[in-house]
Amino acid sequence: MNWNELNKLPTPCYVIDEEKIIANGIILKAVQDNTGAKILLAQKAFSCYDLYPVMEPYLAGTEASGLYEARLGYEYLENKEVHVFSAAYKAEDFEEILKYADHIVFNSPRQVELYGAKAKAAGKSVGLRINPECSTQKHAIYDPCAPGSRLGTTKAQWDEHMTQELINLLDGLHFHTLCEQGLAPLETTFKVVEEKWSKYLPNLKWINMGGGHYITHKDYDVPALENLLNYIRTTYDLQVYMEPGEAFVLNAGYILTTVLDLPVNGDTNICLVDASASCHMPDVIEEPYSPPMVNAGKAGEKTYTYRIGSQTCLAGDVVGDYSFDHKLVEGERLAFADMAYYTMCKNNTFNGMPLPSIYVAHTNGDIELLKSFGYEDFKYRLGK
Ligand SMILES: *Cc1c(COP(=O)(O)O)cnc(C)c1O
Repeated sequence: MNWNELNKLPTPCYVIDEEKIIANGIILKAVQDNTGAKILLAQKAFSCYDLYPVMEPYLAGTEASGLYEARLGYEYLENKEVHVFSAAYKAEDFEEILKYADHIVFNSPRQVELYGAKAKAAGKSVGLRINPECSTQKHAIYDPCAPGSRLGTTKAQWDEHMTQELINLLDGLHFHTLCEQGLAPLETTFKVVEEKWSKYLPNLKWINMGGGHYITHKDYDVPALENLLNYIRTTYDLQVYMEPGEAFVLNAGYILTTVLDLPVNGDTNICLVDASASCHMPDVIEEPYSPPMVNAGKAGEKTYTYRIGSQTCLAGDVVGDYSFDHKLVEGERLAFADMAYYTMCKNNTFNGMPLPSIYVAHTNGDIELLKSFGYEDFKYRLGK
């Protein structure tokens, strides 16, 4: 990353780090080569399709949350698999989904009953998302196994509604229960899946273990993952799929901002920048968490601590408290790191905030503008 050049870009903007995407891809490709498992990109996390050709050698296909993502994967990654899962399909969308997707995963026995035969007749591979009811995280908003969850079919519902006729329509099972987690929670979850569904596994073609796997994180136990994947393949003769989003683009993006003002409230030194947590990094508020910042520490680690927030009216539009070796000054540039996933694809223009431009830093050092936005991009979704 050529910071001299990056610091000349107008802010706010995202910068996608091509080199890091390739480094992540190499790790994910090796897992596939060593195990026969197939790894799909969950596009909901990152769908900057100009980068799909860069990612192409490292992925088996894409995973979509519905019609539009399925179409994007189909159009921009030719000859790769297109998987789709939706909590509920609409009849109007389903016909078109059949044009793009080759694997279609349903959420409930009723949806299999409604659409399963149609999908099979169109030559599609059909799956059902199960809910193993095995929570391995405390964060309810990201826990599809939380009590009362609408995601996946519980074993009780399976026993009640999955007739032999419906089971015969299935080629695979899907579960997605993790978020930014290591191997141990996956092993725990797979054991529960085995306890509840092992009798059905030998008659299926594939199992999809969803996303939330931190495979490209430095602490992830990749060899142990490969053991698990090989165990599943050899024990049940299943094609295993995984569909991480975050792991493909972990640490592969920045949002660059400029310091606008440095007001003080009591003991709190505040720093206002031209990017917004609420508009440009909404998971910071949803989760909540504070992303790392280049050349900054956590609150109190370095001499000068600031609460960094945005221009908007939302009181909680704060990215976090960070510390620096020097006093910040107006016009200075700050760079939030690890901003490639769940950012660009979740942007909004609340308060009429501009959408940040999107750049890519290529491996040869070139910085390319993919897209810039203006007033029209705020306006066009709101009326005539
Ligand atoms: C969110 C999601 C993913 C990707 O999750 P990451 O945490 O980005 O790896 C994959 N599959 C399904 C069904 C999801 O909902």
